[in-house]
Amino acid sequence: MLYKELVDVYEKLTSTNSKLEKRDILSDFFLVVPDEILPFVTGLLAGYVFPKWTEKELGIGPKLLLKVISKITGITEEKVEKFVYSSGDFGEGIEKAIEQKKQQTFFDIKIEITYLMDLFEKVSAYGGKGSQDKKIKYLSELFSAASPIEARYLSKTILEQMRTGAAEGIIIDAISKFSGIPKKEVEKAYLLTNDLGLIALYSKKGIEELSKLNVTVGRPLKPMLAQIGGSIELALKDIDEPEMEVKYDGARIQVHKSGDTIKIFSRRLENITDALPEVLSELKQTLIPETIICEGEVVAYKDGKIAPFQYVLRRLRRKYQISELSEKIPLKLFLFDCLLIGKRSLIDLTLKERRDILVSSIKESELVKIAENKISKDPLEIKDFYNKSINDGHEGIMIKDYLSQYQPGARGKKWLKIKRTLETLDLVIIGAEWGEGRRKKWLSSLLLGIRDEEGKFLTIGKVATGLSDELFTEITEQLTPLILEEKGKTVTIVPKIVVEVLYDEMQHSPKYESGFALRFPRVLRIRDDKDAYDSDTISRAFEIYEAQEKTF
Ligand code: AMP
Repeated sequence: MLYKELVDVYEKLTSTNSKLEKRDILSDFFLVVPDEILPFVTGLLAGYVFPKWTEKELGIGPKLLLKVISKITGITEEKVEKFVYSSGDFGEGIEKAIEQKKQQTFFDIKIEITYLMDLFEKVSAYGGKGSQDKKIKYLSELFSAASPIEARYLSKTILEQMRTGAAEGIIIDAISKFSGIPKKEVEKAYLLTNDLGLIALYSKKGIEELSKLNVTVGRPLKPMLAQIGGSIELALKDIDEPEMEVKYDGARIQVHKSGDTIKIFSRRLENITDALPEVLSELKQTLIPETIICEGEVVAYKDGKIAPFQYVLRRLRRKYQISELSEKIPLKLFLFDCLLIGKRSLIDLTLKERRDILVSSIKESELVKIAENKISKDPLEIKDFYNKSINDGHEGIMIKDYLSQYQPGARGKKWLKIKRTLETLDLVIIGAEWGEGRRKKWLSSLLLGIRDEEGKFLTIGKVATGLSDELFTEITEQLTPLILEEKGKTVTIVPKIVVEVLYDEMQHSPKYESGFALRFPRVLRIRDDKDAYDSDTISRAFEIYEAQEKTF
């Protein structure tokens, strides 16, 4: 099959906004794509070359691509860059550059999809810096054969900027349509494998083959998520057989071990093994089975105490000088679930059974532990467990249904979270933005100010979510007469209206004038009983920050 045929599909997809039409275009196309290239082509349609959880990547940035295009067209890099700027889109810029060349020489070489598949494999095999020349050689060969429009889509794919509107959901709909397999089954297989290409191929073989796809070591599954439990009493109404666990405030990881190979995936299913070297080497000692998938939360420590969540993020984002940071920000891992042992998937077992298997599969150490838990139905005992968890510096507790199965990707009522919230702050609205769409008539995105000693209001955060329609209406009514200045959608407001704001954490941040930022701020209500000069001051923010740091 020729790459040109795929380009025609991209073009058709971009020419319509209708999801149903997009689905039908894809479904018709899937039927004619040969099996050998179906997984690859599905990925290209979804906008990637390799699923993100594989270690494979092309590692080609815009600079390298400009170099290649300049080389094969004879146009200077600066000029190619100008094409890109003037069209505002990398792909279109490259298309224009190639067009110029093609007017002079035109080689009638056709790009086969198998050739492209092969070429991308080869390019991904050259990782480091010294490999640039090889990558340039392969890409020059490819782009010399490409027509202008092919070059446009190739560049978008290579730079991971493909936006054809063929989102995951539409591809799943299309797979279900062409194969005649109910969407629910296709979705289920996808949650287990996170590989659209594989799903497309197995769906073609029929429902029986598709249902053989299961949890596999090395291939992350979407994590099961929790709903907000509200309160312990409310959570107990939803769950008959509760198991409580400490809710650690860190980052979710999924660990896959197969013999000597251990891989660690993030909640977004990226391979983050390299960012966590000390966790990795400790896991080699602590995981007993030859083959296992388990899940847990990595938590950062600072000066022996649990550190706020942003420290973990710093560790995960870091690609270089990891060892330096791992001394400054040591981590611990708390495991709470087990999804596979050997070849056996555990996700259909109850949490109780999975937890028992987890306990017998781990040799705990200082760095890798099993999440602390408690079995009880007594609200007072659960409250004690919650208080202890908070006092130990954690985020709260999870209340899980001990008899529930593991549902990949689901945010259901089988896991409920009860989180610590700090004291609320009474802050003043000093600005806002008119909303869009349904929110057009409301002042949404409220800019919050906190009072300093001189009575000035310094920005501390923005809230746009968590307000009911009634609250938005009321706030808009109260704010409208106070508008000082309007610039486009943005308005400045006389500091008068006080709102009570709930948030998860107080952070230091240069983003706002106060030097603080609130994590997940929500407006609870308008404090009609207070005027701006009764609102909380910056010194209160300091106190809260200090108190919070002590508990961390
Ligand atoms: P949230 O991010 O607020 O939706 O809460 C769910 C997240 O809490 C999970 O994705 C985990 O990263 C984290 N978490 C911390 N401790 C636990 C635990 N014991 N069980 C499950 N998830 C946990």
